[in-house]
Amino acid sequence: MTDVNAESGSGKVLDVVVVGGGPAGLTAGIYLSRARMNTLLLEKQSPGGAPALTERIENYPGFPEGISGYELVRGMRRQAEGFGLRISSFNPLLGLREEGEVKVLQTEEGEIRAYAVILATGMRPAKLGVPGEEEFHGRGVSYCATCDGAFFKDSVVAVVGGGNSAVEEALFLTRYAERVVIVHRRDRLRAGKILQERALSHPKIDFKWKKVVKEIKGDQRVTGLVLADVESGEEEELPVEGVFLYVGNLPNTEELRGAVELDERGFIVTDADLRTSMKGVFAAGDVRAGAVWQVAAAVGDGVRAALNAQFHVENLRGTAYV
Ligand code: NAP
Repeated sequence: MTDVNAESGSGKVLDVVVVGGGPAGLTAGIYLSRARMNTLLLEKQSPGGAPALTERIENYPGFPEGISGYELVRGMRRQAEGFGLRISSFNPLLGLREEGEVKVLQTEEGEIRAYAVILATGMRPAKLGVPGEEEFHGRGVSYCATCDGAFFKDSVVAVVGGGNSAVEEALFLTRYAERVVIVHRRDRLRAGKILQERALSHPKIDFKWKKVVKEIKGDQRVTGLVLADVESGEEEELPVEGVFLYVGNLPNTEELRGAVELDERGFIVTDADLRTSMKGVFAAGDVRAGAVWQVAAAVGDGVRAALNAQFHVENLRGTAYV
């Protein structure tokens, strides 16, 4: 593990710190390390980001059979470390400020100084905010089918949401569950057409259209959902042993509030060069306002942010060639 104090002690200033170890951050790490920039990547947990928990990614170019999210990000990490990227895992960012041209990152392991920063902190699943959700989290309530699906062998489970995540994970759950019920608040899915076709024709998948979850019920573990019809308000109980929630995402930007400009939903505002409102600080991937939330796009962001961060640092040093 990288010793952050050794990295930043006695006033040492790094070239670039990348915050976040998903596809955007790791790609930036590959480019910066290969450019021989003195770079450190900080990660809250261990690198991988949300795609590491995706069972199969089918739309990342170059893998016609699809590739497991874990394999893909593991490869990115190996590639970055192969070029010398240092990674500080389990070291969350606590705050960011500037002292002239130097950016100061407060982390759990102390302060780190750098001339440029790339924020690639991603997003996390939103909560539904209904009774029983917190109480039964880990006891039937889950936000990750890839992590928990195997615990629901031959069970009836519900998936809440109609987006790509909900439908992809519902399809994944059919491997284990006897029946998967997708509960969606509208009468059509938001997910892409190919996923829709698969789910709508799947013998193990049923739908509860125009229904919202009012409550998650249980004793020791989840036993069912109280659903309400969005038009009539009529309530019904759906007995299930598990419920997987995919009702959108929230940006991981709490520690950046007041440091860089955020949009009304908390995503980081950037210009076309991925510059944030703090000079020398860039944002990449899902956390950026306007991101399309795709692994391939996050990779593209990582490249752009890395090249611009490199240019910024070289400019400060007076070595940029233009
Ligand atoms: P999303 O696209 O925002 O979908 C969230 C779903 O939850 C929507 O169907 C929404 O309903 C529903 N919802 C939101 N709030 C709700 C509430 N309070 N009660 C009930 N339902 C609620 O989120 P996502 O599926 O996690 O996807 C996030 C992004 O990642 C998307 O851009 C997606 O395309 C991308 N992604 C892509 C892939 C892929 O390409 N294979 C896989 C996963 C994710 P409405 O439809 O009525 O708004």
